Amino acid sequence: MKLIKPFLILLLIAISAVTFSQQKYALAIHGGAGNITPQNVPPEVRKAYKAKLEEALMAGEAVLKNGGQALDAVTAAIMVMENSPLFNAGKGAVFTADGTNEMDASIMDGSNLEAGAVAGVSKIKNPILAARAVMEQSPHVLLSGNGADAFAKEKGLDMVDPSYFFTQSRWDSYQREKKRMEKGDKHGTVGCVALDQHGNLAAGTSTGGMTMKMHGRIGDSPIIGAGTYADNNTCAVSCTGHGEYFIRYAVAYDIGALMKYKGMTLQQAANEVVMHKLKSAGGDGGIIAVDHKGNISLVFNTSGMFRGKVTENHEMQVFIF
Ligand code: ASP
Repeated sequence: MKLIKPFLILLLIAISAVTFSQQKYALAIHGGAGNITPQNVPPEVRKAYKAKLEEALMAGEAVLKNGGQALDAVTAAIMVMENSPLFNAGKGAVFTADGTNEMDASIMDGSNLEAGAVAGVSKIKNPILAARAVMEQSPHVLLSGNGADAFAKEKGLDMVDPSYFFTQSRWDSYQREKKRMEKGDKHGTVGCVALDQHGNLAAGTSTGGMTMKMHGRIGDSPIIGAGTYADNNTCAVSCTGHGEYFIRYAVAYDIGALMKYKGMTLQQAANEVVMHKLKSAGGDGGIIAVDHKGNISLVFNTSGMFRGKVTENHEMQVFIF
């Protein structure tokens, strides 16, 4: 009998040690949703996308595995995709109707609802870093255009000549769409959501916007509550799709709100917003989200969405269609 008490204490210590060492983390990314079909993404291109998505997942997971912050994981994963010409963010940004590149990005910390964003920037190599600098080093949430570029420079971020964002394939699709004089639906925005081992959620999104957008147009990606949202009490969300709809339907916020006020699960809330509300309104696109328990949802109403996920006990997985 005397031995039972110390034994129980030891057992409790052992259980809590195991629980601690198995703290949950989860990470999901997207590289844009849209008219992405096996016909228009040939096998060799698929391979390139999958490799880059895996690289982004690995960069984010490395942070989480070592007990790092969700915010750092989100930043690391998004930077990998911003530096690749494959995605419509950073290096691979699409062209506006004027033939320029204007990028938007945002990031949000679910532990304190701090957020930062930049819109219409054209000289910052990694817009997600500028969004983060706005959050951490300015009293504001959203900076735009020249002011945002100047702020990023002042904070010592890597600045580039706007010609850095020229890629032949985006230029070709700009020329094609210019001829057709219609708004392109070339998607490829990037985003990441993460839950770290401390129970904190974060979300980030970065984009070149939509091909042939008007000069000065700002999409949902830098709008907190539309393209990005994170709250430790509910979930972290990053969106991609036709931004005007995502702004009007406050998509990222709405998913968390349905969980909070209607008691929906993450998957139910994501389905409700993307497959019902957005779809019936004609808003195409998708979302990635993770909740405070580490559940991940990847939901889209288009033919495809570049996406991937990884958790502490599941192999990483990437998908296109
Ligand atoms: N949501 C982005 C925008 O409207 C575009 C995209 O995700 O493809 O700017």
